[in-house]
Amino acid sequence: MVKVFLARRARAGRLWLGMALWLVSPALFGQMAAPESGRFLVEYGPVATEDYLRYEEVLRESRVLESVAASLTRTLHLPHDITVRVEECGSSDASWELASHRVQLCYELLQAVLELSTAVAGEDDERAERWFSGTITFIVFHQLGHALLDVLPLKTGLAPELAADQFAMVALGGAVGQPQEVLGALEFLHRTVGSEEAAGLGFLEAHGYDRARVDKLACGFAGALPAAMPWLEELQLLPLSGAPRCGEEFAATHRQWDLWLAPWVRTPLKSAPRPRVAGAP
Ligand SMILES: [Zn+2]
Repeated sequence: MVKVFLARRARAGRLWLGMALWLVSPALFGQMAAPESGRFLVEYGPVATEDYLRYEEVLRESRVLESVAASLTRTLHLPHDITVRVEECGSSDASWELASHRVQLCYELLQAVLELSTAVAGEDDERAERWFSGTITFIVFHQLGHALLDVLPLKTGLAPELAADQFAMVALGGAVGQPQEVLGALEFLHRTVGSEEAAGLGFLEAHGYDRARVDKLACGFAGALPAAMPWLEELQLLPLSGAPRCGEEFAATHRQWDLWLAPWVRTPLKSAPRPRVAGAP
């Protein structure tokens, strides 16, 4: 598997890098000096398993996590630093700990998502890469959603898992330049949640993913990315009922999060460019 990953890592790194560069585009985020507190930070824990050194190398080279962290630091004012720490944890999970203000992203999770993407996507390397990069990106934003819900008094009234999904959906759906990579997360979740192949994938189990959650995300991303609607329908990713209301629902969710986060926004977000789905089937 590591050989497969190594063969692909340059392309996967480029996908992540492209997304990160878009996320830090000055068209979206204001230019300002990084503050000295209330920052999003990235750390890499010591790696004992040789296979995981490759993941660390790709992450460090692509700087995708650092770029996301810098973008969010310029956008939100936090009462505390929030650190994303990539490390070996002994399980294929990602978690948030309030006491240390730390999001833990496990190398075991990166490995499990890559293995599952490769196994389920079969010979379609492009699809496997899209699933891997999209899913890990989604998971990072889901975890940052958990973090924000704990460090900011947002009072969403939502269950934490639903709120974390909504944050990821709004952040990615509202500010995405490469929807295929983001929608890769949706394809991955649609194909794997509840499947035998995904049994034991810690993140899906610990965060309670089921079909209803995946359908909510599908509707949200369809509403966020109307240009992708035909593609989502072709892949049968949309729930059969309610699809026509997805645009309205996403807009309402986006407005709600704008209001919730408004007291902590340093730089107002500008409109995102119109998304396009290059190369969609
Ligand atoms: Zn969660």
